[in-house]
Amino acid sequence: MRFTPYRPIALAALLSLFLATPASADDAITLEPEQVGTNTYFFGGASEMASQENKGFMSNAGFVVTSDGVVVFDTLGTPALGQAMLDAIAEITDQPVKRVIISHYHADHFYGLQAFKEAGAEVWAHTKGQIYLNSDLAQERLEQRRQDLSPWVDDNTELVWADRWLTFEDDKTKTFDMGDTTFELYDVGGAHSPEDMMMYVPDDKVLFAGDLYFTGRIPFVEDADSKTWLEAMDSMLDMDPDVVVPGHGKSSTNTVEDMELTRDYLIFLRQEMGAAVEDMLDFETAYKQTDWSEFEDYPAFKDANRINAYGQYLRMERESLEGL
Ligand SMILES: [Zn+2]
Repeated sequence: MRFTPYRPIALAALLSLFLATPASADDAITLEPEQVGTNTYFFGGASEMASQENKGFMSNAGFVVTSDGVVVFDTLGTPALGQAMLDAIAEITDQPVKRVIISHYHADHFYGLQAFKEAGAEVWAHTKGQIYLNSDLAQERLEQRRQDLSPWVDDNTELVWADRWLTFEDDKTKTFDMGDTTFELYDVGGAHSPEDMMMYVPDDKVLFAGDLYFTGRIPFVEDADSKTWLEAMDSMLDMDPDVVVPGHGKSSTNTVEDMELTRDYLIFLRQEMGAAVEDMLDFETAYKQTDWSEFEDYPAFKDANRINAYGQYLRMERESLEGL
């Protein structure tokens, strides 16, 4: 018993031998933007899950320098990354960041917002983002990120609301000017999340597509609303961009080819799974008898195809029951 008082000290000393020095939120993160147009840049994160190793830098975000301020598209997955974006932007231009557009309210795309709010930027997002922010899911995700991405996401990390919630008319587009640059916003809500938006910069022919676009690979579709997604693909093809910056992964200059792959794949999934539902085939049988040869050599086919097919089987079932 007489050694008891020393035990905590001994234990702490022992632990310090085994535990690496904890990371500090002050550990500087330096980001290097990639230029994709005369005035347009993006930050490309690792295409993987958020982890301590990548410090939450696993998505993309971009910015456009105008003659009267900077427009930012998405803010990456932590306030520290948001600050790192601001620092990197300040290396390129003296213009302040005046506006931030959020593609959708998923943690890896908007947790950096806090830094931009502190810097005085105005935040715009699709009105349906409010549904997510009011949900239990949003709080659960924040708690999870506080554990997984500490200290970069901690008790000081907040879910930041937009200053302006955008609603769209039938044409599903909105344009705005900053300085001498025009921006087009597209409502593609429902394709990947209820509040998806894309941003097009006609001067540089660069499209920021959020999580609707995949470069040279089979997309993750699962039970996404493939009908809305296909409509969004059509508006993307109409824009005919030179460069597409996706929400994850490399930017694309083979834009038509990449878009056609996603579009053809979505059409194929809907056709095959739709026919199976109509013929009342069970999923296993339908999956086995489908000829996947057109797509099976593309990257991510093995990881994604079965889940995608099953998700779309269920969706086609729902669509047929609802008579959509
Ligand atoms: Zn997402």
